[in-house]
Amino acid sequence: MDHVDKILVIDDSPVQAGFLSSILKPDYEITACHTAEEGLRAAKEGGFSLILLDVVMPEMDGFTLLRELKGTELTKHVPVILLTSLADIQYEERGLLLGAVDYVTKPFSPVIIKARVNTHIQLYHYQMEFRQQAMVDELTGVANRRRYEDEYPVRWREAIRFGLPFSICMFDIDKFKAYNDTFGHPAGDQVIAAVAKTAAACFQRSTDLFARYGGEEFVALFLGGDGRTAFEFLKTVRKAVEDLHLPHNSPVSPWVTVSVGGVTVVPTVQSSPEEILKQADAMLYDAKSFGRNMVVWCDENHRQLRERQ
Ligand code: GH3
Ligand code: MG
Ligand code: MG
Repeated sequence: MDHVDKILVIDDSPVQAGFLSSILKPDYEITACHTAEEGLRAAKEGGFSLILLDVVMPEMDGFTLLRELKGTELTKHVPVILLTSLADIQYEERGLLLGAVDYVTKPFSPVIIKARVNTHIQLYHYQMEFRQQAMVDELTGVANRRRYEDEYPVRWREAIRFGLPFSICMFDIDKFKAYNDTFGHPAGDQVIAAVAKTAAACFQRSTDLFARYGGEEFVALFLGGDGRTAFEFLKTVRKAVEDLHLPHNSPVSPWVTVSVGGVTVVPTVQSSPEEILKQADAMLYDAKSFGRNMVVWCDENHRQLRERQ
């Protein structure tokens, strides 16, 4: 096994934390923290497959920390096992209701701890794999609508936090009904997959997201860069699709083409991401009415940029 799972142990007692580490070290990479604050910071850095959390700690207790972990996007899926010496059913109930996956009471047996940890880590892997599959569009292999819905607010908040311009655009294959009518639905499916692959390859940064929005429509979002830069970039994406030279007999082009409508904004807490998507859709509508196979963009100063036909 080349992958070693990371476990975060949060326990104010260095002795307890050391004991747990010694039990789990042969199979896992252990990070030990001795305060809830330190633990929260480490958890948010990510990469852990499991958290072992002491319930009773000075200052912030385990329940408060648990609530925090479960309420944070980055940490909410990481399983938490609570550790306590309080063999009290009420604590157990409270911990489980707050989202802990399991609960062990001190003093614990190394064998039991190990077995439970192994089980929860395995379940975590299954869950991650399942989530991964549920986020991918089957036909094209790009992110699906659900993934987009999940990520959109996260990226939006990142843009606000870092004061970065936020760009979003909608793609729609031109005259695609006609394509299906001429070449058949299965050939149409292949076109959707080819267009998706080509366009998705243009969005390589870790903060980029390219997803199939539905049917023959795609959505992309990315951070940084002004409207003009985004517009120029999307022109190259549009061209990359046309340059695939997938034959189509539409009035637009001998090849399969896409129209793209997008918008760049510097988001603030007052602006709404739904509103921005509507604007991108309006730009797409304009791209269609101006003749298709073109990019129409609304920059951060509300100026419309468009390709001449
Ligand atoms: P426009 O240039 O205005 O976008 O014209 P259009 O024909 O592409 O627009 P319209 O929305 O009328 O038609 C979209 C077509 O896309 C209709 C539908 O049959 C086809 N389509 C949607 N999803 C799929 C799919 O998964 N596979 C295939 N083969 N076709 C699809
Ligand atoms: Mg459409
Ligand atoms: Mg279309």
